[in-house]
Amino acid sequence: MTAKLDEKLVPIYQDVLHRNPGEKEFHQAVHEVLETLGPVLVKYPEFADKKIIQRICEPERQIIFRVPWQDDQGEIHINRAFRVEFNSALGPYKGGMRFHPSVYLGIIKFLGFEQIFKNALTGLPIGGGKGGSDFDPKGRSDDEIMRFCQSLMTELYRHLGEYTDVPAGDIGVGGREIGYMFGQYKRITNRYESGVFTGKGLDWGGSRARTEATGYGTVFFTHEMLKARGDSLDGKTVVVSGSGNVATYAIEKCHELGAKVIACSDSQGIIVDEKGIDLKALKQIKEIERRRISAYTEIHKDAKYVEGGNIWSVPCDVALPCATQNELNASDAKTLVENGCIAVAEGANMPTTPEGILLFQDAKICYGPGKAANAGGVATSALEMQQNASRDSWTFDYTQKRLEEIMIDIHKNCYETAAEFGAEGNYVLGANVNGFLRVAKAMTAMGVI
Ligand code: NAP
Repeated sequence: MTAKLDEKLVPIYQDVLHRNPGEKEFHQAVHEVLETLGPVLVKYPEFADKKIIQRICEPERQIIFRVPWQDDQGEIHINRAFRVEFNSALGPYKGGMRFHPSVYLGIIKFLGFEQIFKNALTGLPIGGGKGGSDFDPKGRSDDEIMRFCQSLMTELYRHLGEYTDVPAGDIGVGGREIGYMFGQYKRITNRYESGVFTGKGLDWGGSRARTEATGYGTVFFTHEMLKARGDSLDGKTVVVSGSGNVATYAIEKCHELGAKVIACSDSQGIIVDEKGIDLKALKQIKEIERRRISAYTEIHKDAKYVEGGNIWSVPCDVALPCATQNELNASDAKTLVENGCIAVAEGANMPTTPEGILLFQDAKICYGPGKAANAGGVATSALEMQQNASRDSWTFDYTQKRLEEIMIDIHKNCYETAAEFGAEGNYVLGANVNGFLRVAKAMTAMGVI
């Protein structure tokens, strides 16, 4: 069950299916955007004449390459890596790298496609791209991670540049991996080109608040959605899926704003701590020791760990999916609504299935799609690029203030765009249309390229 497409958009979607067989996540991401563009073509028929939508659905460039590397025992492994340079109408391609065994072209294309609109929503000069590899970093030593990153960058470097394509982190890629990739780029090119990567360490060109930005931004966005309904996060009970970068800092900001996060997860199980998740313990386990979330009960004996548990069955006021795509389905959405959840904001990319989204919209709860709700990460990456370009380094407070202002603006733009197109409170339409219009206008101005 998905929303219907306007009849003008049906052949465009059919063509996407035909040209990109087997890439179901990419099909899903395109469908979700096309569902909302019918009224745009009525107001701006020139975009149909200029085939803007067909052009946006076709990446400008796709790079697929082999990454051979040796493990600590000397055995050779072969992975496949991707970089999809999707759209550069607004600036250099910008989007993270994902290392996860599930990665294939369809996942990178869905992420790259979403990134175009997300980046446009930030109002900053960044185009959309994404990359990654089917490499599984779990259980690998530091040396193995380094050799893999160096091998990957030995090919990828030629496609990057601060004015061309600027990667960052995503699932399985944090400060350590970015350090190894940036180091190899610097070595091969003989250039200290800080702006070619974001998410760098603070001692070598990184921005304060970048690590925190996606999670914090998601919570700022949630707060804005609640404020628009005369409510706030203060005193709310929250459930956050995942326990990686986005989840950790979403939990931190929820607690700062007076909410209590009572559950989080990893791919193997969930932790429920009715007293509120102890962030210090979580960071120690996940960021320093790199262990499974189950270790949390060694520190908090009264917390509950459920192997394979479903985090969406934990009653809450606010749900923040911050793990991965399609992690929240229709049945989960139904459970959340029945349990009294009033707001969902996506720290992850496309975590809610199309059927789940419809259920949230029918229930008229606040629902903030990832394109808008998690745009704080890439926005702060663009702030990192600004600091690199001016050889400057801003304070944490100043950078966080800029992030908050950007999230408030994104919320306002989504809200107002939805209202303008007769769909007040529909942040999916607001985000897609607002992002699309900015890209479409730039593409129109630049001619058929
Ligand atoms: P991360 O640090 O690698 O953490 C990912 C978390 O999600 C981990 O707890 C992981 O558990 C869990 N997870 C991953 N794949 C899973 C799966 N197939 N099933 C269940 N759980 C899974 O990654 P992250 O940077 O926080 O990214 C999380 C999400 O946010 C992704 O959708 C990403 O695209 C999106 N996002 C990230 C950023 C950013 O700045 N990092 C910006 C915008 C959006 P395990 O450790 O057990 O695998």
